[in-house]
Amino acid sequence: MIKQQAFKNGGRNMLKGALHCHTTRSDGQLTPEELLRRYHEHGYNFVAITDHRIYNYKNFAPDLPLTIIPGMEVNMRIYDHINHEGIKSGSRQFHNVCLGPAKEDGNGFEQDECITMPAGAKTTEFGPQESTIREYQKFLDEIHAKGNLTFYCHPQWSATPVRYFDKQEGNIAIEVRNTTCARRFDMDVDAPQWDDYMRQGKMLYGVAVDDTHAADDLGGAWVMVDAENNVNAILEALKDGRFYSSCGPEIYDFYYDAETGMAVVECSPAAKICAHRAYGPALLVRSEDGNMTRAEFKMGSPGYVRITVTDKDGNRAWTNPIGTCDPWLIGNRE
Ligand SMILES: [Zn+2]
Ligand SMILES: [Zn+2]
Repeated sequence: MIKQQAFKNGGRNMLKGALHCHTTRSDGQLTPEELLRRYHEHGYNFVAITDHRIYNYKNFAPDLPLTIIPGMEVNMRIYDHINHEGIKSGSRQFHNVCLGPAKEDGNGFEQDECITMPAGAKTTEFGPQESTIREYQKFLDEIHAKGNLTFYCHPQWSATPVRYFDKQEGNIAIEVRNTTCARRFDMDVDAPQWDDYMRQGKMLYGVAVDDTHAADDLGGAWVMVDAENNVNAILEALKDGRFYSSCGPEIYDFYYDAETGMAVVECSPAAKICAHRAYGPALLVRSEDGNMTRAEFKMGSPGYVRITVTDKDGNRAWTNPIGTCDPWLIGNRE
């Protein structure tokens, strides 16, 4: 039996976290202190303040029992796709959130460090700098060398096909839900790009985030992490996939039995539970009264399997995948 990593320790008492938000340090509306106070009111245990291309370690509300995950968001306009004669317009982008440890634990960024463009990139009069995929990878490599993990943001809003962003190496996750994109554009609500990416034989986790800019973006989507409440433990849990993502429902257990080919999930009351897999279409069970708290799926040999739980109000939660054969087994870290 393969348990998804988040549930190996029982699947309860997880930490609630915000991994992607903006403040007045870049284009957000809330001050960093106000943002932290509101996340605390929403029951969060940790927050990463990830303003655009300016690094943060600082706890702007030190009286609150909140863990601050150091981080920022980097963003570049990518122009490989317009290198075809006659096609000069469009705005395809790479945005990645970077998260790292404390400076004394090997983080190579400084507080308030503003990120400069990679060598060879161009400055445009419109702000975002232009880069190619290869140049951008050098930039990501530097971020990883400075002790930070990265995840890929809002694939749908970025209007960048999977065949472009799948060239990025070293990300641990992709955004499966982005509150701001969902509320403003009805985008990035369920990340079909996640399966598209993984069906190429690559493992990736899914994170739900607010990408908070306005105050009412706050508290719509989060991660639940199985970790001790400190920066290093939370980062290790994220790297190991010991978390699930949610806009409301709770998930308590998820495993796959290799002998029977069954996947089993336990959760808070749900109206729909869906099992996504590499080989074959998704499988779905419904509950008319919205009170289903367990589902079993006969998966056969799915390659990987991941679960989406939807409650009667339409709020979703997502497990990370369980890899059931190569090449996805790399996700089943012990
Ligand atoms: Zn972004
Ligand atoms: Zn953002």
